[in-house]
This record gives sequence, structure tokens and C-alpha cells, in this order.
Amino acid sequence: MWSAMRHCARDLEERAVYIRADTYREGLGQAARRLGIEASDIVVSDPTSYAARRLVRQLGVQVEPSRGFVTSERDFADWAASRGRKRLLLEDFYRAARRRCDVLMDGDEPTGGRWNFDAENRLSPPKGERTLGLPEPWWPTEDDIDEEVRADLSAAVGAGEIRLVGAAGPRRFAVTRAEALHVLEDFVRHRLSDFGPYEDAVMRDDWVMAHSLLSVPMNLGLLDPMEAIEAVIEQWDGGDAGLSSVEGFIRQVMGWRDYVWHLYWHLGEDYVTRSNALDARTALPEWWTDLRGDEVTASCLSSTLTDVRERGWAHHIPRLMILGNWALQQGYEPAETTEWFTRVFVDAYPWVMAANVVGMALYADGGTMATKPYAAGGAYINRMTNYCKGCAYRPTERTGERGCPFTAGYWAFLDRTRPQLQGNHRMAQPLRGLDRLADLDEAIDGVRRRGTDPP
Ligand code: SF4
Repeated sequence: MWSAMRHCARDLEERAVYIRADTYREGLGQAARRLGIEASDIVVSDPTSYAARRLVRQLGVQVEPSRGFVTSERDFADWAASRGRKRLLLEDFYRAARRRCDVLMDGDEPTGGRWNFDAENRLSPPKGERTLGLPEPWWPTEDDIDEEVRADLSAAVGAGEIRLVGAAGPRRFAVTRAEALHVLEDFVRHRLSDFGPYEDAVMRDDWVMAHSLLSVPMNLGLLDPMEAIEAVIEQWDGGDAGLSSVEGFIRQVMGWRDYVWHLYWHLGEDYVTRSNALDARTALPEWWTDLRGDEVTASCLSSTLTDVRERGWAHHIPRLMILGNWALQQGYEPAETTEWFTRVFVDAYPWVMAANVVGMALYADGGTMATKPYAAGGAYINRMTNYCKGCAYRPTERTGERGCPFTAGYWAFLDRTRPQLQGNHRMAQPLRGLDRLADLDEAIDGVRRRGTDPP
């Protein structure tokens, strides 16, 4: 963020007055004095957090709607009101947005006759391959501004003002408009056509796979989501990308990203702190908060924590299937877990993580967002990733030395949360499975003995 702000100031040349201040309020005060204007002359885009929105309203500046999303907050409010008592389902929101914005539509029908190509977009990693074999992505080149940011961060750490986690690796994400356009073009040309089929798969030696790497510039406001949507549609129009990839990407950007943004406001400021439907009370252990993947034996968790330590990023499936799933199974406290996700990912903001972590990953809102907990054992991880080959554990085993901590953890989770889940008809089958397990006590005992130690 520092790099992006400083690059923006440089790109704007004399049109920018760049102010460094300890607080937003102080910065605006300095700006008003330097420019000889009143607070009421200042126009700001509505900020993206509750605290900042409150502040700009107190300051008496003019507030314009937030930018950087396909649908407006007004659109969402109208859509939510039109639902009455019906659930605010992503799929319905996404379809309404496609219609309203006329994206991938043939009249009133979805292009290709279907709204969703999930069946084509659930491929496992290709067998026997270590990577998808796609060209190396385009990477930004660091400059004197990045060097200055690194020096300032080191100084702040040295002075005890901040504490950082993670490795100081090269900057991998776009922080200028020009870089954002490069990344978009590189994605559309070289990775888009594989994005759809492999969007849910994970490969240990291919951290990018066919993902766009656009969340950082999009969340920084450097790339409008509609621009990215138009670029992928153009590629499809030219016959260079399949509809399943194009629809899959648009679903992520116009569907999921807009949806979690609007839910952040719709669900209220206390959504994160009030939600703990599964009574999850475990404090996050230090090996987890400090991203010490090298202390973890479980290959999937070790690799994912290491990826986040190295780059501050992992794509959405390791976030959900490995990190979120582990936090869910272990009963990590939801507000603390949300705060952690917000702290360690480079594309994270409170609005990004609230619904993603509390609702989707942890089911802490008791089903407002998801119809059932996204809990999975090793068999599912084995199907969608190539981590299990070479892991010290076996995904199919739940007890003993080789018992997979995710598999044992899955059953222990179901056993622990049965009282809260038994009324959910989508959980009836897994709960019946729990009753059939002859070695359940042994599996639970293994989980209990490990406690919060790294698996
Ligand atoms: Fe992860 Fe279990 Fe597979 Fe090991 S066996 S990689 S712990 S799912």
C-alpha cells in the first residue's frame, strides 16, 4: 500500500500533494492548510471500512460513493430489498448483476445457455505434472520507491513501531496503473484459458497456476473490475479463451468479489465479533500466526503457510480448503482468525475477509452465507491437490502415526459440533457417517493429544 500510494503521487506529478501523517484526520488537516481550503471543499471516495467512513462523516468533507466495484451499494440494497425473506444467495445476486450490467447475456438468457460451468471447472491437478506448464507470469521490477518503502519499514520495525510477519521477498504484485495493465494483459493472453478448468486445483510447485494476480491492483483501485471483465470477454470473442474460463473469472470478480463487499456493509459492523455459532474458542497458536510452515509436518498446511510467508498470497482454494478448513476444524476463534487473515494477505482488507472468513470458511454466522460448513478431510484435499503424495500422513487414514490430521480433524469437528449441526439437512449424511465410525474415539483422542501443536 505504501508503494502504491507513493507511486501514485509520482505518476500524478504536480497534481498531487503527498502528505505523510500519523492519522487520516491529521493528513486531511495538513492538506487543507497547504492548499488553503476548508474541509468542506475536500471530496473523498467513501472509504472501505466502518471506522474510516465514520471519520470522513465527522470531518465534514464531501463524500462520493466508493469506486472499484461493478455494482453500486444502491444496486445491492435494491436487490436485497426485493428478496423479502429469501436468502441473499450469491448465485441469485450474480445472475441479477449479469442481467443488470448486460455481461455475457444474449437477451435475457445467459450466453452459452448456462449460468454456470462448474462441472467443467473442477479439474484435479494434471496427473504426473509438477506445474500447469504455463509461461512464467510477468513480474513488476522494483524501483527506488520500493527501496525507500523497504527502508521505511525496516526503520519502523527497528523503532518498535510495528511488527511484521513473513519474508521480505520481491514485490510480486502490481502497485501502479501501468503494472496493473501489464498483469491483466499477461493473464488474459497466457493463463485465462486454463483458469476455469483448474481454478479449484492446487499444485505444490505452482503457486500461481492460472490465476490472474489481479486482486491486489483491483483492491488498490488501480484496475476497474469492469475493465478486466471486458478484457476477458474480448479474448473469448477472438476465440482465444473458452466460455467456462471466461464465465469462471467473471463469477469471481463480478459475483464473489462484489458480493462479499456488499455483505460487509449489509451484515453490519459487529458481524465479525458477534458471530461464533460453533462456539469456537481456540486461540491461534504462534506457529500459525507467525507462518512457521517449516514446523509443520502436514505437507498441505506446511506448503500453504510457507507460500503465505514468502509472498503474502495464496490463491482462493488453499485459503479456503487448507487454512480455512484447518481453522474451522480446530475451532480457532472467528474474530481472531479474521484479523489474522486480514494481516497476512497482501490483498486483504476488513471488507474482504469478514464474509470470506466468518461466513464462508468458519461457518461462524450459523448459515447466513453458506448452507453448510466447508469442512473437508484428506480425501478431498487429495483429489484437488498434489500435496498428499510425499506427505508423512495418508489422507485415507484417521488414526495412528500416519493418520491424516485433516481426516481425523474432520471427524472430530463433526463430533464436537453435532449439537449445532444436526438440524441442518445438508449435514445429515456426514453425521450418519460419524455414527458408523468404529474408531471415532481413537481419532478424536489423537486430535486431542496433539492439541494446538503443529500437525
Ligand atoms: Fe494434507 Fe493429509 Fe494430504 Fe498430508 S495426507 S497433505 S496432511 S491432506
